[in-house]
Amino acid sequence: MDFDVQKIRQDFPVLNQTINGHPLAYLDNAATTQKPIQVIEAVADFYKYKNANIHRGAHYLSNLATDLYEQSRQTVQKYINAAHDYEIIFTKGTTEGLNLIANTLGEMLIHKDDEIIISIMEHHANLVPWQQLAMRKQAKLKVIPFADDYQLDFEAYKKLFTDKTKLVAITHVSNSLGTINPIKDYIQVAHQHNVPIIIDAAQSIQHEKIDVQALDCDFLVFSGHKIYAETGIGVVYGKEKWLEQIPPYQFGGDMIKDVTIEKTIFADLPLKFEAGTTNYVGAYSLKVALDYVQNIGLENIKAYEKKLLNYAIEQISQIDGVEYYATKADNKISVLSFNIKGAHPYDVGLILDQMGVAVRTGKHCTHPLMYALNLNNGTARASFAMYNTFDEVDQFINAVKKAKQMLS
Ligand code: PMP
Repeated sequence: MDFDVQKIRQDFPVLNQTINGHPLAYLDNAATTQKPIQVIEAVADFYKYKNANIHRGAHYLSNLATDLYEQSRQTVQKYINAAHDYEIIFTKGTTEGLNLIANTLGEMLIHKDDEIIISIMEHHANLVPWQQLAMRKQAKLKVIPFADDYQLDFEAYKKLFTDKTKLVAITHVSNSLGTINPIKDYIQVAHQHNVPIIIDAAQSIQHEKIDVQALDCDFLVFSGHKIYAETGIGVVYGKEKWLEQIPPYQFGGDMIKDVTIEKTIFADLPLKFEAGTTNYVGAYSLKVALDYVQNIGLENIKAYEKKLLNYAIEQISQIDGVEYYATKADNKISVLSFNIKGAHPYDVGLILDQMGVAVRTGKHCTHPLMYALNLNNGTARASFAMYNTFDEVDQFINAVKKAKQMLS
């Protein structure tokens, strides 16, 4: 299929508006993506004609909603090539997924003086749960540092392992810099030490092909809202052998087989991890969003986004007094973090907004990364998705030039 950005844009009604008198250039896609009309209409249609609580037995609508929920699980399974659909657990997002893993697998594996390896580029969602677990258990966090060019130091990673290392948790792609980590290599090393490894795929699921069996990761998590689905839905993939061993995260309805006052027999996978009424409409929106992405083709999306990023880098590199970070386009997704020298990124963001350009500013929920790079005010970050255009990159670059004039 030919990649036709104008046709794609027609599917995203939110893009077709002016902000502060300028056409909207929505460049905050790493924070959340906009939703295609197919997803919006599927959700409306669900509530209009299909809604009932899932797993409630006898009646037609409940069975229909349950079928759609389970179909959504299978769509996710295929999308990441999991071996079984029951290895897909629906959560409300990456953050909940990582908390689930820290509170179950982490609780089970970590004891006093044990060690957990994370990296300096983790989003707080893949840092604070491990830090708090380590504090509870009197265990230790060890951190993979940066090497050159905003890549993690793989050699240093290998040296962090000791016989106390019990877990590794690492991001596939940095949300602040766009750096893609060669996670397959990281997974292999963890497994050489018999240590399970958790992958935060919040920033890769929408840009990179993910095959959990080829990667051989133990867990992988992501959020639906970053891949064109609704917010409030996410996924934990876990290998069957782990999901069978670890305890449930939350307790209540739907996650049981039988309950007496004295004890509970938990449900089989995956329901053991899905207590209470889940976001079954959100799960369905994720199915529709993944179908949408697959229809366009992730490879096509990736190739187009890479052209956009390279063009943006080329343009921004010609502006004196602008610093930009981690721009080796071969191993990064379409994120461009930058600063106007001497200006606060928040002021830059406000001026860009006046010109219709939406970027994120600040430390991007990666405070340790920002401190390690001496970027104590953070950065401004433009992040591109499949519906962004070269004209929008031009609008962004002109806005950066204007901001520079106004702030220097
Ligand atoms: N990890 C990374 C790398 C992220 O970019 C984000 C979202 N910014 C998260 C985790 C948390 O995702 P959510 O807020 O959807 O739970």
